[in-house]
Amino acid sequence: MALIVQKYGGTSLADTERVKAVAERVVSTSKQGNQVIVVVSAMAGETDKLIKLSHEITDRPDEREMDLLLSSGERVTSALTAMAIQKQGKDAISLTGRQVGIITDSAHTKAMIERIDTSRLKKELDEGRIPVVAGFQGIDEFSNVTTLGRGGSDTSAVAIAAALNADLCEIYTDVEGVYTTDPHMIKEARKLDKISYDEMLEMASLGARVLHGRSVEVAKKFNVPLVIRSSFSSSPGTIVVKEDEEMEKIVVSGVTYDKNQSRITILSVPDRPGIAATLFNAIANADIVVDMIVQNVGSDAKSTDISFTAPVADCGKAFEITKKISDELGAKGVNIKEDIAKVSILGVGMRSHFGIAARMFSSLAEKGINIMMISTSEIKVSCIIDIKQTEEAVKILHGVFNLAG
Ligand code: ASP
Ligand code: MG
Repeated sequence: MALIVQKYGGTSLADTERVKAVAERVVSTSKQGNQVIVVVSAMAGETDKLIKLSHEITDRPDEREMDLLLSSGERVTSALTAMAIQKQGKDAISLTGRQVGIITDSAHTKAMIERIDTSRLKKELDEGRIPVVAGFQGIDEFSNVTTLGRGGSDTSAVAIAAALNADLCEIYTDVEGVYTTDPHMIKEARKLDKISYDEMLEMASLGARVLHGRSVEVAKKFNVPLVIRSSFSSSPGTIVVKEDEEMEKIVVSGVTYDKNQSRITILSVPDRPGIAATLFNAIANADIVVDMIVQNVGSDAKSTDISFTAPVADCGKAFEITKKISDELGAKGVNIKEDIAKVSILGVGMRSHFGIAARMFSSLAEKGINIMMISTSEIKVSCIIDIKQTEEAVKILHGVFNLAG
């Protein structure tokens, strides 16, 4: 008998008809002789609605109250899904994060799971019930409700699968799996049958909104076999596993883009030890995640320019901090550019193939696309370009690296 964790996203539970359809799939998986644990997201749009409500009260809602508010969306779907499963003749029980025993740190609205008490889930399974867990939530050591960050119910599911050593964790969504690039943008995008944890991690951080990044980290760490598939079809989806030789032969397996980027440049700062540390400590203390950093060699050896990218939502805050530091250091000034995008290619095969970055740069150059910043890792190359050329760039790269198959 296999233990399968099935996670259903918001569009899969958008209304009661969809909830019934989910229950059918759960019941059929159970009737095939498997033990099933269900993890649910809130109904599509529900979390946004709750955030909006809070902003009707205050611009800066207290984060502890925010977590209690947001956790309610998943409670609704867990109870409804449990009822729907019962109605179809199987025993089910809804459980909140607290009832399961999902213990997190106290970082409200972006908590990290510290441990999961598996006894309640095991007891329910042993007694023949299907647990339906409210995703996205836990409690801290003081019993405050916490949430795991937007999209966090993926992480709830994977963490539960890891804790119980499940045979499989299926993530049900409204797309057929992971694609070579955004199928809404590029019609030649192809669904991948298989992808490695590392590629999936890069995809999540490069802006492909497929899975909560943290869920992939947990899956990789505990070697949880993950499948991403659609709850609207019976297509087998994409499996995320440890990389194998076959994957290494494919040089580039995906092209991603992220339009949620801004670039801040501090001009002519003194070129001496400690400058970058001062700037980026201040930025980090404001909880701003910096992505790319470029520091030039100053032409006069006394000063240099430093550019970095940050999410658009944080760029106002980042600008203010940088401006203050610029004034203190006597730099020439700070400028900000918001109409940029990051386009990336990724693939584990890059580890063993040469010239991939050069090929990317020349393909972009041939089409007159200017590259403003570059960053690379073992398995990806990212370029910052003008946001207006995003689609063109993605299309070219998807073609050049033969992703359409
Ligand atoms: N409902 C939460 C969100 O919208 C968590 C999730 O769906 O995974 O971010
Ligand atoms: Mg999601």
